[in-house]
Order: sequence, then structure tokens, then C-alpha cells
Amino acid sequence: MDLETYAYNHILGGLYGQALGDAWAMPAYLRPYQTWNYYNGWIDQFLPAPPDHPVHAGLKAGQVTDDTQQAIVLAQTIIADGYITVESMAKAIVAWYDAIDGDNVPYIGPSTRRAVLALKAGQEPHTTGVYGDTNGGAMRISPIGLIHPGQPEAAALDAIIACTPTHFTDVALSGSCAVAAAVAQAMIPNTTLEDIIDMAIWAANMGLQYGSAWFGPSVGRKIDFAVQLATDTTLPERDRIQNLYDMIGSTLATADSVPCAFGILALAEGDPINSAIYAAALSGDADTIAAMACAIAGTWRGVEAIPFEHIKTLRQANPNYDFEDIADGLYEVALKNRDALPPDDDSNVDILGQDKQ
Ligand SMILES: [Mg+2]
Repeated sequence: MDLETYAYNHILGGLYGQALGDAWAMPAYLRPYQTWNYYNGWIDQFLPAPPDHPVHAGLKAGQVTDDTQQAIVLAQTIIADGYITVESMAKAIVAWYDAIDGDNVPYIGPSTRRAVLALKAGQEPHTTGVYGDTNGGAMRISPIGLIHPGQPEAAALDAIIACTPTHFTDVALSGSCAVAAAVAQAMIPNTTLEDIIDMAIWAANMGLQYGSAWFGPSVGRKIDFAVQLATDTTLPERDRIQNLYDMIGSTLATADSVPCAFGILALAEGDPINSAIYAAALSGDADTIAAMACAIAGTWRGVEAIPFEHIKTLRQANPNYDFEDIADGLYEVALKNRDALPPDDDSNVDILGQDKQ
């Protein structure tokens, strides 16, 4: 396979991975025993949300939630402009909120809702995210990694821009940088899962140096701890998942859910489908954790790692999204980003194919 095809397949894998994890884990309940008892075991296929689900009732099998809706909005904004700015991100999030009737839907996160209301009231987008500490920045950030293949630091810096209007606390940026950098690293042919996790920890520590000073556990140290818990082979998978739930936390907090996503990714050995199955069993903010884990897994393994029946279900359940078209657009932006690197920087020349301009 030539490099251009390889790169496109892995960008597409990242996009489908994001959607697959989100939709797969969407029917999970808040606690692992509830999900396990209701479904009588693992969630091993796309399922509709149960009618009594606190936030997802009414969603059908394969339908994505706000995580992927916002990731697509971010991708579309990047493709339209060629890059991301604080202002364009703010405009895109407000437009998305209005399009889904944000005032009247239950699944908008607390930081995003607060920021959107402030933006609508005329507040300046560099100030509307200064208290945003939940995982809404990290859950949508994967496209930023896809436009910076092999450039995790550039991905982390763009992640900060994309999070500024809604999630500009140090802890939220730490988690968002971890996910964006992991995706950028996962685009490199022959990179290992260990490299991806190491890069995430490096970027988590970098992101912590930015944004408004806030409080929370160390995302980087908790990623390391989550991976240790998840790879403790003396325990069965379900016990390791329960340990992630009890000791890392499957909550809306960035410093809980981002480390959980890396734990799930490690438990699944980077496989997108197993990441989705394990994240759904984890429960709690399962759709977001699965979206992050599966975006990284899908980028790393490529779209070939996702069986076509699941691709078909995602297309049918989300007819407004043309994933292939978006992957094309992101590839073009990635090429432009590569060509804008200094002439002596050839770190990702061999990732995208095509001659450097
Ligand atoms: Mg969601």
C-alpha cells in the first residue's frame, strides 16, 4: 500500500473509530453492574439506548452523541478554513448548540453549556472557557491529531486553541492535549501502543502548563496508573474494568475519563472493537471514554480494523455525515500542515506520501 492510501485509511479509521466508540457505548448505564445485568453480559454490538436511559433514551443503534457531533463540527471547521482559531471554534460550537436545540436537550456537558450561554451573551471567546474542566474538549479533539500526523506537539498546541472557548483550564487542556497527541502519534506507521501512551503522558504534562490555573489530579500520572490497572494480567478483564471504575473514575471530569480511555485502549491492546466493548462495560461516561479510546485505536489500526458491517451501520444511523469526504478534507489539511514545516523538518515526510511542496 502506498503512503497516501495508508494515511487516508488511518485518518478514516480515526473518524470511524470516534463514531464507533461513541455509538457502541452510548447504551451503557452509569455503573458497571447495571450495564452487565441489563444486557446480561458484554455489549458486543450496536444497540439502541434503553428507554429509561438518563441521557440517551430515544437514540437508535449506531447513532452517535454529542462527542462525535462536535468532533465532526471541529473537522468541518478545519476543512473550511484550513486551520482552527479560537473564534472559528467558538462560532462552530454555538452553531452546533443551536442546531440541536441545546437549551432543550439533556446531554450537553456543563462546561460547554456555560460557555455557549456566555458566548451568546456576547462574552469574548478567550474568556468563556476559563472554568471549563470537564471532558468536552478532549471528547471532540481527535480530528486535531489527524491533521498533524507524526507531529504530536503541533497537535497539542492546536488542541489548546480548539479548547479555548469552552475548556481552557489547565486540567482540561492536559487531557485534550493527551488525546490529540496520541492520535498524531498513532498516525505514524509502525509506532507502538507504548509509544502512543508515552506521547499522551508527555502531552498531558505539556498541556498542564497552559490555560487558567485550576485544580485536579495529574492526567499524566493517572494515565500511567490506568494502564497499569488495565494490564494487570493476574485479574480477569471485568475485575480490571471495575478497578478503572473505582480507582480512576468514569466521570465527566477530564482527569478521570481521559486516563480511563487510555486504560481501556491498553486493555484492548489498541483494537477498536474491543476498546468499544470494554468501555461500554466500564459504564459511567462510557460513550465519551469509548469515543476517545476508539478514535486513537482506529487511527492506529486503520479503517481495515473495523468490520464493514459496523461501517455500514454507522453510515445508516448517521446519514448526515460523509466520513469519507471528511477524511479527504483532513488529509488535504494534513498535507498543507506538513508543507508549512520548516525545510529542515522532515519528521513526517514519509507519513503522507506525495512529494513535499
Ligand atoms: Mg456523549
